[in-house]
Amino acid sequence: MKKTVLVSGGAGFIGSHVTVELVQAGYDVIIADNMSNCDTTNYEGVCAILGYKPLFIKMDFCDAPAVEKLFAEHKIDAVIHFAAFKAVGESVAEPLMYYKNNLDSFLNVLEASRKSGTNVLFSSSATVYGEPDRTPVTEQSPRKSATSPYGNTKQMCEDFLRDCVAAYGMHGIALRYFNPIGAHPSALIGELPRGVPNNLVPFITQTAIGKRACLSIFGDDYPTPDGTCLRDYIDVVDLAKAHVCAVSRMVEGRMEEPYEIYNIGTGRPESVLELVQAFEKVNGLKLNYRIAPRRPGDVTEVWADPSLAQEKLGWKATRTVEETLASAWAWEKHLAAKAAE
Ligand code: UDP
Repeated sequence: MKKTVLVSGGAGFIGSHVTVELVQAGYDVIIADNMSNCDTTNYEGVCAILGYKPLFIKMDFCDAPAVEKLFAEHKIDAVIHFAAFKAVGESVAEPLMYYKNNLDSFLNVLEASRKSGTNVLFSSSATVYGEPDRTPVTEQSPRKSATSPYGNTKQMCEDFLRDCVAAYGMHGIALRYFNPIGAHPSALIGELPRGVPNNLVPFITQTAIGKRACLSIFGDDYPTPDGTCLRDYIDVVDLAKAHVCAVSRMVEGRMEEPYEIYNIGTGRPESVLELVQAFEKVNGLKLNYRIAPRRPGDVTEVWADPSLAQEKLGWKATRTVEETLASAWAWEKHLAAKAAE
């Protein structure tokens, strides 16, 4: 009997990659998304990769009766919750919008999961570590006060899950992602930023294709080897596979604690300049970039100690940064070709 996984926000960047990996690992997937931050491109890509259409339900997770109905109508073994707003700057300008949406939707998921005995996987973020005292960070590294409402919602949702697990006998996992980048090797699904990208890699690929004139590198006077910030860039397909490992651990009853947290990163720090140079080299092109002032709120360096995920989930990152940057470029070119049709 196949197990069923509900993927909230399954039409988005990470959700679509997770759907593909889950189906390929033998799970039935229900995608539910309100399409507030994406179009049907990734869903169509998922269908093309898989050769069939996973059930898609257009719904808003803030709509409690709709969430209850969904859980009542389907036997859901695990839910992976992605449905949330994710722009740091926007969250600073619109905190209420972020708190209402990101907290309400997760509370509804928790309530429905409690009633139906569903396992919960929450998509958290390395943002909970803030500017760490020591790198790499382990799951035991202290969480720092959030510097944005977005970051705060990640911390609060982790706490909601921890408390519900403790009180109601539920099982849950929080995965703390570092910097997810890249696209599926088919180039049929990937990141679709609305407007000007905030994140580095979409900005790089849009500059390379000519949509943006010039990449600004935010600061080269940080106390790092080349003066630019250090991050842990994790390939989105590797990241998606971590979800399959975590879901299997939950639904097969292999959890050692009812609530577990895992860092999902490569363990390899990369500077902004190194990433730009790797992109140029692997794709054989020159990128127009300049050094700009620091971006407020950026931490100097953060990267993962991913050894717990390797030990307990049997997961580790496998794609090289070159492969990942080549996939990001292939995706950008796929989008350009589609736009020219
Ligand atoms: N960055 C940059 N130019 C950009 C976007 C990002 O130099 O146009 C830098 C940013 O300062 C940080 C790194 O790239 O050091 C990763 O930023 P991103 O927004 O992708 O992720 P974050 O680590 O902030 O979540």
